[in-house]
This record gives sequence, structure tokens and C-alpha cells, in this order.
Amino acid sequence: MDTKIVFPEFKATALEDIPRLASNARGQFRTHKTKNLQWRAVQLRKLYWALEDYKPQLVAALKSDLGKSSFEAMFTEVDWVKKDCMFMLEHLENFAKDEKLGSPAVPPTYSLMKFRVRKEPMGTVLIIGPYNYPVQLLLAPMVGAIGAGCTAVIKPSELTPASAMVIKEMIETRLDSSAFSVVNGSIPETNALMNEKWDKVFFTGSAQVGSIIAKKAAETLTPVVLELGGKNPAFITKNCSNLALAARRLLWGKTHNAGQVCMSQNYVLIDKEIAQTFIGFLKDAYKDAFPQGAKNSPDLSRIVNKRHFQRIKKMIDESQGQIVMGGEMDEDDLYIEPTAVLVNSVEDSMMQEESFGPIFAIYPVNTLDEALNIANLVHKTPLSLFSFGSKAENDRILNEMTSGGATLNDSFFHGSVNTVPFGGVGDSGWGAYRGKASFDAFTHFRTIAETPGWADRLIRVRYMPYDWSQYKL
Ligand code: NAD
Repeated sequence: MDTKIVFPEFKATALEDIPRLASNARGQFRTHKTKNLQWRAVQLRKLYWALEDYKPQLVAALKSDLGKSSFEAMFTEVDWVKKDCMFMLEHLENFAKDEKLGSPAVPPTYSLMKFRVRKEPMGTVLIIGPYNYPVQLLLAPMVGAIGAGCTAVIKPSELTPASAMVIKEMIETRLDSSAFSVVNGSIPETNALMNEKWDKVFFTGSAQVGSIIAKKAAETLTPVVLELGGKNPAFITKNCSNLALAARRLLWGKTHNAGQVCMSQNYVLIDKEIAQTFIGFLKDAYKDAFPQGAKNSPDLSRIVNKRHFQRIKKMIDESQGQIVMGGEMDEDDLYIEPTAVLVNSVEDSMMQEESFGPIFAIYPVNTLDEALNIANLVHKTPLSLFSFGSKAENDRILNEMTSGGATLNDSFFHGSVNTVPFGGVGDSGWGAYRGKASFDAFTHFRTIAETPGWADRLIRVRYMPYDWSQYKL
């Protein structure tokens, strides 16, 4: 793969252009051309082939922005969105067709009238992306918007400038540029975008910024999907069927994209009696994953920038716990070694923030009751939850703690399949997408009733003067 590709210098979109871009997208929606399924299918095919053609630039951009390996760049970004395009193309007609309503939704009295749900595009939408998966987390929602028949403006993260510039060129040259455009920039540009009227805003990022977006959207009663983060717990009990496998899988959760994954575990609550054995297995898994050391591995991504490097470093530096794996850091290389810290307090710095990096806490507990108390104290509605216990224990954990999604016996597999619904709950997000849910996220479900003239024989009771004898109380 050619990594010597030169990227255009990052350039924020001029603030004065933003109202025009939003108004163009709105105007194009009003032409009704996006309601044509053929048009949507052409745009999805164009996106598919654009991703194929821009593969070298995208892979190189992800390397430049995040030190992402070509394996992860292809598997979790470029191919991921291509698969989304294929899935949407394959099911588009089915998703978009009217849903006829009969019994039990329509009671027998009304059964001779026609009811259906028409799938209407929401309109013109804004999609705002984060930095950790600059391609996937911007373009996968866009697949839903295209499939549903919306026009869109998309805003990549400014923290991954090479990817942002490649995406801008790719989308604006290969798709219908009157319907889709890319605004590059940071807070001022996002604010300018949020000053426009949208029919839906789809935001992926931190809870802090999600709250700013939701507040602003509320001023114009704009619906939002929020895909946010959280402090995700993993539970390991004495009944875990394979502790070595649990260690390998949880290490994967924190080494993939250098742990810059919203759904990976922040901390592991483990039965005291098996904690040391687990740490031993973790070290074995580490050696298997990085035979030449993590720093020399071609597979391990880097931290996106110095600000985030310092943020993660501070969590480790301020911890009262004991580093039991990793701990090495190199700011010039934005390298943080996959690190596990043994802690014994929820006040520990490792437990206070979402780590969003290759580090996690191991917190030994005496009982499952204690584990559940701690997890519910740390974050009541995390994005993910992982449980490695007996069936009864896993069920109890699912019952007594909520989360956006959950995986039993593994790290974030519930979010690793691009066609199953994914989303948060409470303060880890509102709404879901992926697979059919992506289509639904940008669709208005419009109920249509059709009542033939002769139906008055059945429903004349509605007309005044009312026949009060029916409801005499
Ligand atoms: P972020 O919230 O800092 O930025 C997201 C987007 O918002 C960017 O495009 C950015 O330009 C914009 N933005 C930043 N500050 C803003 C402000 N003050 N006003 C308006 N817009 C602003 O998020 P990030 O650092 O890029 O991503 C990391 C966070 O995203 C983590 O919390 C992670 O858990 C979360 N995340 C969630 C998911 C999910 O699917 N639930 C996926 C990836 C990341």
C-alpha cells in the first residue's frame, strides 16, 4: 500500500458558505428526486465504488491520522461502509415499501378501510462524526440517510484532518454534489451548522458535546440521534468458563484501534480469588499479540494527538493503583502501551473518566453484589457491558444493570457486526442505527388511512349530534 500519498492541507469550510450548503441540500430535497428508489440506489453504488477507488488514499489517511494499520483501516472502516452499501442496496426496496396495517393494529370495526405506513425520508439531515473511526462513523450513518432518501451535509472530525480531506473530495466528486456535501472544521463550523434548520441531526461523539448539540437542536425541535460514550464495565466471576480466553478477548477490546473505541471496557470487576490468574493470562495474551513488543507492532494504532495522549497519561499517573501490565509511553510517537492497572477504589483516576485509550482498570471484588453496586455507582447507563460468568450470573447482571448493548463471554461483539442495531441508552445515547435501523433512523413512519364513502355506514357514530346512549356514564 502506498503510504507516501500527499494529502491536501486541512482547510475548514468558510463560515459564510455554510448557510448556502444547508440551503442547497434543503432545496434539493424539495425537488423530490431523492424519493425515487433508483436515484438512492445509484448514490449507494457511487459511494460503494468511491470507497473502492479511494481505498489507497483512505488507508493512507487513517495511517497518517491515527497510525491505523491497513488491516483495521480496511476491516473496520473502508470495507465496513462498503458492506453497509451492499446491505442497504440489497434490502432497499423491502425497507422502503409501504407497510400494510391489518389486525391486530386495525380493529375489526375498521377492517374494511385501508391503513398503511408510508416510509418517508425525514428530509435534509446533518451528520457529525468523531475522530476514532473517521470513515465508518461518518459514512455508515450516511448510508442510512441515502437509503431513506434524505439529502445530507456531513461534518468529519477536525482531529483526523487527512481523512476529513479525502472524504470531502471523495463525496463531493463522486456522489450527487447537489444533494450531499462535506463541511470541514471544528467548533465554529459545527456551531454554524447547528444554526441551520435540519430535519434530523445524527451526532456521534462525547456526551459533553452531545449535550450541546441536543440543547441547540431543541431550540428548533429538531430530532437527534446521539451516539455517545461511557464507562463500560466487564464482569468476571469464578464461574467464567475460560479465563484465558476472557483475558485474550478483553485485551483485544483495548488494543483494537489502541482502545479508542467507545464500546470497549473501561474497567474489569473480577472475583478476588481469580484476579491474579487473570492478570497472568492477560500477560500471556499480550505476549502472543505483540511478540516484538507493542511499540514495534505494525498493528497497534497511535493516540490521535498530544491532548488525548496527555489525558490518558494523566489517568495512569494519578492512579493510586498498581500497573500490572504495560505502562510505557512515548509522547513524540503518541504511543501508549496497552496498560492494565489494579485498583481498589471507585475514586481512583482510572475509574473516574472514560479512558478511550489502550488502558483499563482491574478491580477485584468479593461478591457479584459488590460488583453490581460498583458498576451502578460508576455509570448507570454505559454504552456497553461485558459479562463472563455462568448463565444465571450473566442473566442477573443483564437484569440488574442497563447498558446500550452487551456482549456475553467476549468484548464488544454486539457492536462488531455492521447489520445489527447499535445505540446507547440514557446518557450514552439516544436512538440506534446499523442494518435496517440505519434506514429507520432517517425515516418518518407516516400512517395513511383511506376511508371509502360507503364506510360511513359503519362509522357514522362519529358525526354530531352524538348518540349519547353509547357512553352514558
Ligand atoms: P467530540 O464530542 O469531542 O467531537 C465529536 C464532533 O463534535 C467532532 O466533529 C467535533 O468537531 C465536534 N465538536 C467538538 N466540540 C464541539 C463543541 N464544543 N461544539 C460543537 N461541536 C463540537 O468527540 P471525539 O473526541 O471526536 O470522540 C470521542 C468520544 O466519542 C468518546 O466519548 C466516545 O465514547 C464517543 N464515541 C461514541 C461512539 C458511539 O457510537 N456511541 C462512537 C465513537 C465515539
